[in-house]
Amino acid sequence: MKNLEPNKNCIKCIRLSNFRKENILKYPSYFNNPVSSFGSISSELLIVGLAPGIHGANKTGRPFTGDYAGILLYNTLIKFKFATGNYLPESSDNLNLKNCRITNAVKCVPPKNKPEMKEIKNCRMYLKKEIYCMKNLKIILSLGTVAHNSIINCFDLKLKDYKFSHGKYHIINKKIKLINSYHCSRYNTNTKRLSKKMFEENFKKIISYM
Ligand code: SF4
Repeated sequence: MKNLEPNKNCIKCIRLSNFRKENILKYPSYFNNPVSSFGSISSELLIVGLAPGIHGANKTGRPFTGDYAGILLYNTLIKFKFATGNYLPESSDNLNLKNCRITNAVKCVPPKNKPEMKEIKNCRMYLKKEIYCMKNLKIILSLGTVAHNSIINCFDLKLKDYKFSHGKYHIINKKIKLINSYHCSRYNTNTKRLSKKMFEENFKKIISYM
């Protein structure tokens, strides 16, 4: 959608823009641009992650596609009927989202997967625009604290009143609820911070709140 996504040469974050340039040289076959959201703007569910993974969305150009986190996320979406088709670690699979949109708090890959505060703040304008353009939005699922905090800031709410806690839901306004989940990263699943069962519990809640 026009103006919802950053320009492919966005230089608001100099460090991330330089990292993109480095990656173009290092991985010329990769996407290496800000990664646009996936799914319809008319959806009722929005999932917000952290940022593209270097060998995931930064490679394929689709959020959560190509790295480990996508396997758990997309297979869960298929199981709970928020997606049809089959997920493959490439954007040319036949997967389609249903009533669900996926984005990231930061649209460019950050070094070591760690965006800086000012980068999260810079990219928030796109997240905010997106949220306000989703006229049917009912539920936001935040994957991790960075996404959670950025969403709370999008609504100009106080973080101290909306603390991240896995499985918790927050009432944002009359229309929108926010559900917290640990990020579905390989690190969180390997360390058993997040299990498949815990992740699926969130989707059961989402369905019951819709
Ligand atoms: S992270 Fe967002 S604001 Fe920063 S350069 Fe990328 S698209 Fe622009």
